[in-house]
Amino acid sequence: MVDNNTLNLGEFLDEVRAWVAGPGEEWAERIEDTGTVPDELVTELRERGWLSLAAPQELGGAGMSFSDYLQVLEAISKSHASIRMLVHVNNGTWRAMAPYASPELRDEVLIPAVKADKRVAFTLTEHDRGSGADIGTTVRREGDEYVMNGEKHLITFGVKADYLLITARLEGTSGKDGLVSFTMPNHLPGAEVIDDSETMGVRGTDHATLRFEETRFPARYRLGAEGQGLEIALGGFLTPSRVGVAMSCVGLAERAQELAIEYANERVTFGKPLAKRQAIQFMLSENYARLAAAKALVMQAARAYEVGAPDAGELSSAAKLTAVDMLTFVTDNALQVHGGRGYWKKNPIERVYRDARAQRFEEGTNEIQKQVISRGVLSGTVSTEGGQW
Ligand SMILES: Cc1cc2nc3c(=O)[nH]c(=O)nc-3n(C[C@H](O)[C@H](O)[C@H](O)COP(=O)(O)OP(=O)(O)OC[C@H]3O[C@@H](n4cnc5c(N)ncnc54)[C@H](O)[C@@H]3O)c2cc1C
Repeated sequence: MVDNNTLNLGEFLDEVRAWVAGPGEEWAERIEDTGTVPDELVTELRERGWLSLAAPQELGGAGMSFSDYLQVLEAISKSHASIRMLVHVNNGTWRAMAPYASPELRDEVLIPAVKADKRVAFTLTEHDRGSGADIGTTVRREGDEYVMNGEKHLITFGVKADYLLITARLEGTSGKDGLVSFTMPNHLPGAEVIDDSETMGVRGTDHATLRFEETRFPARYRLGAEGQGLEIALGGFLTPSRVGVAMSCVGLAERAQELAIEYANERVTFGKPLAKRQAIQFMLSENYARLAAAKALVMQAARAYEVGAPDAGELSSAAKLTAVDMLTFVTDNALQVHGGRGYWKKNPIERVYRDARAQRFEEGTNEIQKQVISRGVLSGTVSTEGGQW
């Protein structure tokens, strides 16, 4: 386990980096070969304490600051995307639950989730609706219960999760005031869990479509009050989570750049290593510059979140937008440096390239990030100076 009071961050980061380069690569191969994330891997990550880094100690976490945790996530993100996903999601969902959970829910769901004894899936996206407040899944209150109808899809850990951190609409309402969030048990009677895990990258992670038909559950699973659903799903989870995804982009881009440099030094064409060609040098230089710029913005967004700055939401979206564009550019260049061989599965850049593509959807596309930013920019709540140092 990790205890932030006694932790030496530098030594811990060295331990994580060594694990990623050694055992992490062996796990990655096993995940790719079998198409599943072995339970022993989850147990190992839990026992190391890496799934409980960011939550405060009173909830059973290590109590790491957000900025320190992001450095760990950067190192982990050089690993297989399914390993990064376990660390990122398990270290994130508590943020949405903690301010709103009743004492009962804290004991039943929140603390076991922080300790990674129970897994929680963030359940927002719907097949026939748009992002955010456009939610069609409904609930109605009947005595001490809610009754849910509707469908969610693309839900990471939706098959294996014990609980769903889910947002629905009170029947007959429209707009954000009708939204309500829950941490309800998964696999309830009346809820169908359809395994939908065959993805391009992030192989091995389970994903699900969840169908609810008159699904009943006790009202005590509600988080906060009716009407607070969007605040819980977006403010509590997505703002820090977008910064986390942005840092994951940085870590994965660093891995792509390492592989490109290694290959450029090894591969000889027309009597010279690729690294001696200006065209290749310029690709690596541009990768470096964009990586450094994105990382600086990610850390700025992290600080804004930590101090509760008024533009933390816009900066978080700006960081995600910038970092994901950088990742697209860097991984494409890195694959190009590898030539045709990079397209083959036996070459590590192939997996990095596939895994990178998922990041453009996670926690919202660039179009959605731009919507978030433009609301702040046009209303004047965000300074044109782009945040404070
Ligand atoms: C690997 C992976 C894991 C995921 N895990 C989860 C999860 O755990 N939980 C969860 O809830 N969701 C999850 N998602 C879903 C993800 O959050 C969505 O895919 C993403 O937010 C985009 O929404 P959508 O797929 O509904 O796209 P759509 O809304 O159908 O959008 C399609 C395209 O149109 C654009 N677009 C849509 N609306 C607008 C608009 N108003 N203006 C301009 N352009 C627009 C989009 O940017 C996109 O390019 C996951 C997705 C992936 C790929």
